[in-house]
Amino acid sequence: MAITHVPISPLPPERFRDLLGERYEEVAAAVDRAGEVLGGRAVWHLNSTAHGGGVAELLQSLLAYARGAGVDARWSVINGDADFFAITKRIHNRLHGWPGDGGELGDAERAHYEETLEANARELAPTVRAGDLVFCHDPQTAGLVSPMLGVGATVLWRCHVGMDLPNDIARGAWDFLRPYVQPADAYVFSRREFVWAGLDPEHVWIVPPSIDAFSPKNQDLTPEAVTAILGVIGLSSPDDATPAYRRVDGSPGRVDRRAVIDQQAPLPGDVNAVVQVSRWDALKDPIGVLRGFVGHGPDSAHLVLAGPAVEAVSDDPEGAAVLTEVRKRWAALPAPARERVHLACLPMDDISENAAMVNAIQRRAQVVVQKSLAEGFGLTVAEAMWKARPVIASRRGAIQDMITDGQTGVLLDDPEDLEAFGRACTELLGDPDRAARIGAAARQRITERFLGSRHLVQYLRLIEGMPSIRG
Ligand code: UDP
Repeated sequence: MAITHVPISPLPPERFRDLLGERYEEVAAAVDRAGEVLGGRAVWHLNSTAHGGGVAELLQSLLAYARGAGVDARWSVINGDADFFAITKRIHNRLHGWPGDGGELGDAERAHYEETLEANARELAPTVRAGDLVFCHDPQTAGLVSPMLGVGATVLWRCHVGMDLPNDIARGAWDFLRPYVQPADAYVFSRREFVWAGLDPEHVWIVPPSIDAFSPKNQDLTPEAVTAILGVIGLSSPDDATPAYRRVDGSPGRVDRRAVIDQQAPLPGDVNAVVQVSRWDALKDPIGVLRGFVGHGPDSAHLVLAGPAVEAVSDDPEGAAVLTEVRKRWAALPAPARERVHLACLPMDDISENAAMVNAIQRRAQVVVQKSLAEGFGLTVAEAMWKARPVIASRRGAIQDMITDGQTGVLLDDPEDLEAFGRACTELLGDPDRAARIGAAARQRITERFLGSRHLVQYLRLIEGMPSIRG
């Protein structure tokens, strides 16, 4: 058992000044207050992976700005064996209302879950002090709430997943988790609809997701850099331009690694591209995207399905199986369709480099899709909207908070309706003016509501609201 303490390099919150204009005042006031509010307290964030997925993405940037604001922010990643992550993935799927692997959540699973988290708690206990604030993220760390309360910390459980209309499967997962979650000082959900029945509303906070406008994933890239990056990873034909981006700290970076790509030929420069970037997860429905695009979508456009190299995402045991299935479906396509579909597994050896790859792929897209069957966050949607790309996404989870149908994107009422999905792609590609209008409105929406600066201010308010801090 070994907890990983993820290094955090501070970033200056002043970066937001130009972007936010007068709205930066609120951020500046929060930065001024933060030191006083927290005193000598450390603010811990506990989760189950340092890279891959939305939570890691969020922590990477938010904690860097928190450090830049003078907060002693820390990030620790718990450890567990394959059985532990199979159990927590089962809980994750069920919180989305899906049976997942169909396995049990009984006494044996509970015992293994508790045993794993007790071992993690023993490792954390010597460094977490009474008075510290501890954010436990998602089901994987819910079992740490009580041990962290036990050392005298103020503990917040942050839930990033959920469904708008919970079913019995989801309620079953709540029942499993409730004894761990209930004692927390606060429950923080991404949207009101995700809040569980039976949690004291006095302790519930709503904090929507956000993205970092300046990260390698979202920073501006020149068209030349986009083409060069796609050439290096092997998605397009190589060219002589430099595949350049800026690292998190602003220093120059360059994409050097190839991706593992299944394709008949490189993506031509002059075709429309429809892109989905996601973990290889059944709930992201990559197979549905492939089938809907090929069966009902535009005739001449290409589809890119991109995700992380599966071995890299430690808390997601199902990735390899989903990817294998997607590859099988791709290989079985008739040749003309296969030529228009590209599968890309992006190396995760260097997180900044991986982010620059995602950035370039999203910028190459004329349309970005996120056809999730269930979705908590949908950070990929925010990322594409920030890049002024028109997004077609499922009317699920927080996606609905970002996209107003027909204005800031296109919502799919029934993500399993492949015909409607294909038609939406064809229509949007066929009307570039509408696509551009939607893209511009999308960027505006993200600027106003979904940047990390808003998230940081909300976290500070939340911390100020804790009785232990109010005194
Ligand atoms: N992502 C990434 N590299 C990849 C695939 C995905 O960095 O190869 C990122 C993606 O850009 C986004 C996050 O993983 O920031 C996924 O977050 P989202 O909320 O969309 O879904 P989750 O994976 O948390 O269910």
